[in-house]
Amino acid sequence: MRTAYKCRAYPTSEQIAALSRTFGCVRLVWNMTLDERTRRYRTEKTRTTYRETDATLTEWKRSDELAFLSEVSCVPLQQTLRHQHTAFQNYFSGRARYPRFKSRTGRQSAHYTRSAFRMRGGLLVLAKTSSPLRFAWSFDDVDVTELSPTMVIVSRESDGRWYVSFAVDVPKPDSVAATTREIGVDLGLKDFLVTSDGDRVANPRLLARRARNLSRHQRRLARCLRGSNNRLKAKAKVARAHRKVRNARRDFLHRTSTALVRSSGTIVIEDLNVAGMVRNRRLSLAISDVGWGEFRRQLQYKCERADRTLIVVDRWYPSSRTCSACGHLLATLELSTRHWTCPGCRTRHDRDLNAAKNILAAGRAVARGGSGDACGADVRRQGEPLPRSAMKQEAHAVRSGS
Ligand SMILES: [Zn+2]
Repeated sequence: MRTAYKCRAYPTSEQIAALSRTFGCVRLVWNMTLDERTRRYRTEKTRTTYRETDATLTEWKRSDELAFLSEVSCVPLQQTLRHQHTAFQNYFSGRARYPRFKSRTGRQSAHYTRSAFRMRGGLLVLAKTSSPLRFAWSFDDVDVTELSPTMVIVSRESDGRWYVSFAVDVPKPDSVAATTREIGVDLGLKDFLVTSDGDRVANPRLLARRARNLSRHQRRLARCLRGSNNRLKAKAKVARAHRKVRNARRDFLHRTSTALVRSSGTIVIEDLNVAGMVRNRRLSLAISDVGWGEFRRQLQYKCERADRTLIVVDRWYPSSRTCSACGHLLATLELSTRHWTCPGCRTRHDRDLNAAKNILAAGRAVARGGSGDACGADVRRQGEPLPRSAMKQEAHAVRSGS
């Protein structure tokens, strides 16, 4: 199993120079490759393979203008090509937006695989640097001198703080207390989530307050004169406010996902097209604020770690509009309608609770559908969604019986 430890790093001025140069080269390689890929995709309608981008990188290093690319470790450059390739695969399969150019002012990072760093006795030395990188280890339960990472990621946040992240393979921990509880989870904007058992987790107010604080700082920054000292100060404040929002959100998502995974043996969620929804401008701020994508990522790895089953049901399944009691399907249901009464069986429904119940039923149908390993995204079915047809059959059976 893979896990990562992230801590603050304190590079020397010499290391800062070397790492900044590496970041610059990583960014350049990403942007030039993205440019070339975009051109080929738009004009020749061809997709570029990872091998092609890697070959181009070798050519660049041989040219006079770009020979300086050889002065930094080649590993982070190749890793950025790999990441870009993954980003394109996600784009082509409709899971993500088109990859964007990297800016000089945002978060910078470089990924080092085993051949590009040395770690012994808790001392980390990166390729093309001579002295160990100082970092603050804050995990008391893990002996850093025994640490043998498979990958090391060095990053500089836009507020100027440095971090180093160690990815390690660890044995699976003893699984948490076994439970057979199954729950369906409806993710929403009013409540962050509602389970099929009726548990609700509200969207944290703390985040809204932090976000207001952030936008206040952003407004102030916008009023500052370009190139002025005040602008620099305002910029640092925006970065710090960003960090606070980010940390508060991550903390909330971790606490919520851990509680969910502890309490249930099987968790069913809907496959939300977050990228698609974020494009809806009215909803976008609220959605990117709640962090569904990150929440799902956490659920996925925590379920794997704890031997829980995570089932992801098709997003075209009308979980809100279907009556969980009799299977009646409404033609439409406004987003603002919080309660409704089923015309088929007169059951009064809470919108989110009803959706959660349907998601659970759809997940059970997927599990019965015979796919043995129901963990992860592999369960998603293409084409005509199985859950929906299974639900319809059940509904028919109930109706003809009554
Ligand atoms: Zn009904």
